[in-house]
Amino acid sequence: MLGKTPEFLRWALAHACALKDFPKWTDPNRTERHLRAIRVYQNAVNQDRVLNGVAVEPIQDASVDVAEVLGFRVHDVFEFYGDPEAVSKTCEVCPANAMKMLDSSAWVGCFGMMPVNEVALPDLVGELPNGSVDMRELLQQVLKEDSELVERIYEAFDKTSPSWYGLWISRTPSLKQRAIQLEVVEAVLQRTPCTVSAAWDAFHRGLRLSVEQNIPLHVQLVPEAETDGVYWFVDSHCGRCGAIASSEKHTGTQCLVCKNEGRPRQPQRRFVRGKRPYWKMTRFLGEDGAREFLNEYKQHKGWDHVTVR
Ligand SMILES: [Zn+2]
Ligand SMILES: [Zn+2]
Ligand SMILES: [Zn+2]
Repeated sequence: MLGKTPEFLRWALAHACALKDFPKWTDPNRTERHLRAIRVYQNAVNQDRVLNGVAVEPIQDASVDVAEVLGFRVHDVFEFYGDPEAVSKTCEVCPANAMKMLDSSAWVGCFGMMPVNEVALPDLVGELPNGSVDMRELLQQVLKEDSELVERIYEAFDKTSPSWYGLWISRTPSLKQRAIQLEVVEAVLQRTPCTVSAAWDAFHRGLRLSVEQNIPLHVQLVPEAETDGVYWFVDSHCGRCGAIASSEKHTGTQCLVCKNEGRPRQPQRRFVRGKRPYWKMTRFLGEDGAREFLNEYKQHKGWDHVTVR
């Protein structure tokens, strides 16, 4: 196994716009699949990796193998969304753009993934922070000292142990529930021993927008998993609360976290997301085209030390 992915919350604000023109557009997983390429593109622009309408993956080596370099045509990625200007217009004024408060030029800021316990992971490195913070434990600490919050949680959510899981059983929490979730996230973030990472900050802001502007939030707890770089393996887990069905947490017929009766979900295996929209440059430019492009890119970057092979 290459690494672990932490438990995380996938979230998306369900605000309809021209970019959400796909089936089940409120689903956080689909939102991410459909709109992630826009973020990948913006990232490339911010890092000056786009030249003549082609984006190139970050290059670190002094020797570049034409056959191996990944990139994508900006036009191909934007075919589904119009063009960068159209996206910019849509997202600039979007009330659900939570990332805008962190970076005023950010597009598609209406979805994200928030790690619950942080570990580095190959598929998502760079998007999820490193460290060792466990929100489930921090919440238990918060609740020990705040009996009123405990009561509000019990009143609005199904009781679970630990309390964290009950908060996310509903995939479309009500406004009242979101207000409590916001309170919880704020209390937990105050206790994190490290700086608040971008992924947490984004969720915090998204949640706050969903409360203040009353924009529906769709959220899904994804259990921790392991990956070998090709597949992603999720252990048997409770289909209701998402807790891993370890022997301490599941009897085989009942989840001890949420008390749901029934067998846990079977272990699952999925392909990791991979590098989309990046693919081999030779596939869309041909070998000569890719070599020519990379030499030009090298000049553009002023990289005298880099050889294109
Ligand atoms: Zn440049
Ligand atoms: Zn939007
Ligand atoms: Zn459960």
